[in-house]
Amino acid sequence: MKFPVTGNDGVKNAVENMISAKRIPHAILIEGADRTAKTALSRFICSAAVCENEVKPCGECDGCRLLSKRNHPDVTIVTTEKDRKTISVNQVREIILEASVVPQKADKKIFIIEPADAMTVQAQNALLKILEEPPKSVVFILNATNRSLMLSTVISRCTLLSLTLAGEEDGNKTESLADRFFEQIKSGSQYELMKLLAPLEKDRTKALDFYNELEVKIISDIRHISSPTLVCRYDRMLDTVTNHKKLLKSNANLSLLFTILAAKITER
Ligand SMILES: [Zn+2]
Repeated sequence: MKFPVTGNDGVKNAVENMISAKRIPHAILIEGADRTAKTALSRFICSAAVCENEVKPCGECDGCRLLSKRNHPDVTIVTTEKDRKTISVNQVREIILEASVVPQKADKKIFIIEPADAMTVQAQNALLKILEEPPKSVVFILNATNRSLMLSTVISRCTLLSLTLAGEEDGNKTESLADRFFEQIKSGSQYELMKLLAPLEKDRTKALDFYNELEVKIISDIRHISSPTLVCRYDRMLDTVTNHKKLLKSNANLSLLFTILAAKITER
């Protein structure tokens, strides 16, 4: 199947790499103003997760076909109930119950929540519990227009795919920083890494954006590596980034986190 969204090359690369490396994260947040694009992207990732062929998503196998008919037993789409504007805590409780049942047909059970920013605070808090310790075979795809309506604790547990053009300037700044940081990992010193991150020390939102970008880049790069030692190193980097995203939500000192990040990530 062709990638469903035009432009957005960064997102396209990240998604294609996740799929071919068989590393679809357990929680993905797709953010963007264009509902059609978000829906198309979430179904594309979902199709890859349930596809039964080697090159995923093929669009032709049983799994892909059942999904396109909205009839796949392992895919649940959760949205606002009739006459309501929000997704309630009870709907999320049902998801949690359902997530504990093993998949019937595919390797994964997928829950698409859209619009995820319509979840009430109680619903998000309930979801947070399962995002903190997600069952191995479950993938959550959250589609949202405005992630500022969501709890930062929920956002920090998701891999962020941003299709939004508004606020592009800020986004680009953070992305280029993650790019430069990633380049420095290969050649640079801890000091150089710390210098790059210094401007983020007073801004937790930007720091989280940076960690999200870095996470996507690490996942993307793993697939091009054949050396098992290097794969281990990338896995360690990924663990550090995931862990720091959680710590970022506590009162952890940013400067200290960056020092640990730089040390861990340059560790051979
Ligand atoms: Zn398929």
